[in-house]
Amino acid sequence: MTEEPCQCSDCQRFYKEHDRLIREFPTFKQQQELNWASIQSFRTLCSKVTNELQRQLSERESSEDIGLEEKHITDIEITETLDELESVNAYLYSIEALMERVFDTKISKNIELKFKEIASELAPDPLNMDRLMLNRLFHQTPDSPDKKNIN
Ligand SMILES: [Zn+2]
Repeated sequence: MTEEPCQCSDCQRFYKEHDRLIREFPTFKQQQELNWASIQSFRTLCSKVTNELQRQLSERESSEDIGLEEKHITDIEITETLDELESVNAYLYSIEALMERVFDTKISKNIELKFKEIASELAPDPLNMDRLMLNRLFHQTPDSPDKKNIN
């Protein structure tokens, strides 16, 4: 287990972001709120885009002349994206349900101080093991073929 941490630009961006989120949100409660907001904003954006693409697709079906500004996205591209976004929305919905459970947990003031203390030790460390393991997961997720088409 003496693997060198990956130094590609994606991973370096991840290390930075990971540390920043610990530094700027060093309590349990802040992490709860941060993650809730992040799931919600992701869902909001995805479903807005989904609605917009559905609208475009049905407009195309009902009329022959497509506005020039919309022609750069093909029907196939829209249909495929809608399929993918449908899965993503279902996953995000599941995560949201789990996040609600995480939200049920309340942490005492004294333990919150412990969180802050650990956070300040953790964030400046560029070779933190937990983070490296997290990042391995993060790094693999986008193009991992076995994670697609689960249903
Ligand atoms: Zn990498």
